[in-house]
Amino acid sequence: MSVFTHPDFDHHEQVVFCHDKASGLRAIIAIHDTTLGPALGGCRMFPYASDDDAVRDVLRLARGMTLKSSLAGLKLGGGKAVIIGDPHAGKSQALLHAMGDFVDSLGGRYITAADSGTGEPEMQAFAQRTRHVIGATPRTRLDGTIASGDPSPSTALGVFVGLREAVRQRLGRDDLTGLKVAIQGVGHVGLGLARHLKDAGAELWVCDIFDANVQQAVEELGANAVRPHDIYGLDVDVFAPCAMGGILNAETLQSLRAPVIAGAANNQLASPEIGVELQRRNHLYAPDYAINAGGIIDVYYQRIGGSPAQTDAHVRGIAETLREIFERAASSGESTSVVADRLAQERLGGQHAVQKHPQRLQA
Ligand code: NAD
Repeated sequence: MSVFTHPDFDHHEQVVFCHDKASGLRAIIAIHDTTLGPALGGCRMFPYASDDDAVRDVLRLARGMTLKSSLAGLKLGGGKAVIIGDPHAGKSQALLHAMGDFVDSLGGRYITAADSGTGEPEMQAFAQRTRHVIGATPRTRLDGTIASGDPSPSTALGVFVGLREAVRQRLGRDDLTGLKVAIQGVGHVGLGLARHLKDAGAELWVCDIFDANVQQAVEELGANAVRPHDIYGLDVDVFAPCAMGGILNAETLQSLRAPVIAGAANNQLASPEIGVELQRRNHLYAPDYAINAGGIIDVYYQRIGGSPAQTDAHVRGIAETLREIFERAASSGESTSVVADRLAQERLGGQHAVQKHPQRLQA
């Protein structure tokens, strides 16, 4: 397997393959771009079916972090790490310490954080071996309560304000009372989003492959439960993908009815062309890495020791970024995904993915 000729290689600055014989650690760290600052991105743990799947994931995710931080106006580059293994079974302290050592060996060019399959305990283990980790210590929230380093409440807030902006743009309404929203996945972010929407008076439909999460949304928020494969075809105002990537594809587009698509999941578009197709079908798509930037904004302020008020204000600024994307798309006739990519590149200073994804950036 070659990295330089890999379809997802996009001029990544550094790709590090990490192996520790004693603990069995197998991991990859990808630093995509440090133009704006050190590469920050979570460390995911997943039982990848093959090494190639892991390489693909880490290359794509690292590039996505460059665009996300750039668009969010953060002085951060893009990077990501993946540990190949079962997060429910394979996390010995020795393995986590070995990973912390590898992160440390990069001298701060890559800063790690929690991601799918890792959380505060893993960050605490990394922190015993490196200072280039965020989310290992509790902090104070805006309301004065002490919270963990988990950034998902900020992600949920960012998705909520972004969704509200998309509704304003596409449906011409400010009041969310009675707005019909379908949420795919009511985990950390999806449930947080559901709470914000419920407070604003929206009506909710939810699905999840984990029944207890659906039950919680039904009991706590009066949400309507639907089966996972029925979520796409609901006659609702908003579809909010908050589970996994690739769910906007040729097949799901056939059933999708919601005029607004606004949710937290990373890499929602199965391919760049789907973004253009959504626009052609008159769905307003809030580009994933623009609307779900609340988490990286939160992590950034944890890193620099910013106040809860600073974090909150910056997260709420996601609505303005989206407004700019929607307005540019409306006036140029381009898709919102194309406009978001270009805006992120402009903020980055131009050079990178322009060559690699010309169809996406110039379409
Ligand atoms: P999570 O694991 O807490 O929640 C995801 C939920 O989706 C789980 O309850 C899971 O059971 C459910 N799910 C999985 N497959 C499903 C399917 N096929 N149909 C319905 N439900 C399904 O994760 P999270 O932290 O809430 O993140 C959700 C998404 O948002 C992910 O794509 C993540 O990458 C993205 N994201 C999260 C953050 C963050 O701060 N947590 C930040 C940016 C992006």
